Amino acid sequence: MIQRISEKELEAQREYAEKVKTAVSAAGSEKGRALRFCVVTYGCQQNEADSERLAGMLYSMGYEKTETDADADVILVNTCAVREHAEKRALSVTGQYKHLKEKNPDLIIGVCGCMVSQEHRLDDIKHRYPYVDIVFGTSYLWRLPEILYRRLSRRKRLFLLDTGDDGNIAEDVPVLRECGYRAWLSVMYGCNNFCTYCVVPHVRGRERSRYREDILKEARALVADGVKDITLLGQNVNSYGRGLYEDYGFPELLSDINAIDGDFTLRFMTSHPKDATRKLIDTMASCEKVAPQLHLPLQSGSDGVLRRMNRHYTLDSYKRLIDYAREKIPDLTLTSDIMVGFPGETEEDFEATLGALRDIRYDMVYSFIYSRRKNTPAAEYEDQIPEQIKHERFERMLQLQNGIGFEINRGYVGKTVRVLCDGESKNDPSTLSGRTAGGKNVCFTGTCAAGEYADVKITEARPFVLCGETAEKGDKNDDI
Ligand code: SF4
Repeated sequence: MIQRISEKELEAQREYAEKVKTAVSAAGSEKGRALRFCVVTYGCQQNEADSERLAGMLYSMGYEKTETDADADVILVNTCAVREHAEKRALSVTGQYKHLKEKNPDLIIGVCGCMVSQEHRLDDIKHRYPYVDIVFGTSYLWRLPEILYRRLSRRKRLFLLDTGDDGNIAEDVPVLRECGYRAWLSVMYGCNNFCTYCVVPHVRGRERSRYREDILKEARALVADGVKDITLLGQNVNSYGRGLYEDYGFPELLSDINAIDGDFTLRFMTSHPKDATRKLIDTMASCEKVAPQLHLPLQSGSDGVLRRMNRHYTLDSYKRLIDYAREKIPDLTLTSDIMVGFPGETEEDFEATLGALRDIRYDMVYSFIYSRRKNTPAAEYEDQIPEQIKHERFERMLQLQNGIGFEINRGYVGKTVRVLCDGESKNDPSTLSGRTAGGKNVCFTGTCAAGEYADVKITEARPFVLCGETAEKGDKNDDI
């Protein structure tokens, strides 16, 4: 049963926040400066959205934000468990905070998120990182004020393992967004799909959707705040509403948000191919604010591998949906996730994946080498692929896909596109960067403020970015 966290419980958190704020203010007066927090984020967009909520709560408790962990009085490491590499990086950065704690014993170090929703990792931190003060899994996030209060008042370390309390959703948690004009909007949490390689259902719990009125209220507030690009988030947005509504699903939600007055673009991720329907595509095609962009993870081009992954679709059914989407949305930008080296993947299976890339021709692919995750069925499969073969296949796939992406990008040269500007490019501060409605990265010359739109004439294509200059007035916009 899905339930909102009760107003009484949220009120209790607000009271804890007030108490922490008083303590933070007193400590700030003693130090002669405001106390500061730093949130370090690993992993997916859902984690980025969670970090904005952690930041919002810390801000509401009187802390100021700093980007530099060495300056901070509270550091939270928001971790990911999807791949071993992400866990290693989070543990390594946590290890580096030992010397900060030695310099500043009042520093509070917290580790939270998916990695520590696994008991063995929580135990790891407890025993091997004695300078870490607080550890809590994803379902405790909204209780940060209470966690901090308990730590500050009792000076004891706190370790809160997720209880599998899956039915609850906390609304109205403060958010401090990273960007004023792009925003995440979570529509659901957790996952019921249990792909055999994936740890997410174990660390984020079962699938639960937010009530539509809560989502619409948040969407209206974002638009009223001037947000121009909203990304709806969920592990599988296509199952939105399941178990909550009889006849209201993700297409209906998209239509309702699309109907909000304002100049904004709406996009979403992630879609599971088994639940993505023609109705979804029709809705995308008919809603003028929905971006012509679809991220639809294929994972493998081999039906045998897809079966062992527990994915519940075939390459053929996937391709039929893509054909339909391209027919309805001719300027569609299509991206995917591909996993290489899943247990038992033969050379023939891998060739089927390469064949799928050649046939489908994605704009971009997020590719991964299979990583063995504790407590998932695939980790127990005996036919694990040797690392060397995994890496060799990964390189072959990259080479192929990079060539395809580059070819597609070259087709944009000479076109004029509307870009939402993100300000100075990080790679080359003499240029600006931004993204099209379809999600293409663009770097360009000219004048445009972050958060404003520019029409950009594309003069050069690179494998992962389009380059151009702001267009002259009157140049036709090719709207990608
Ligand atoms: S759909 Fe599969 S891969 Fe995606 S989060 Fe759920 S279990 Fe993991």
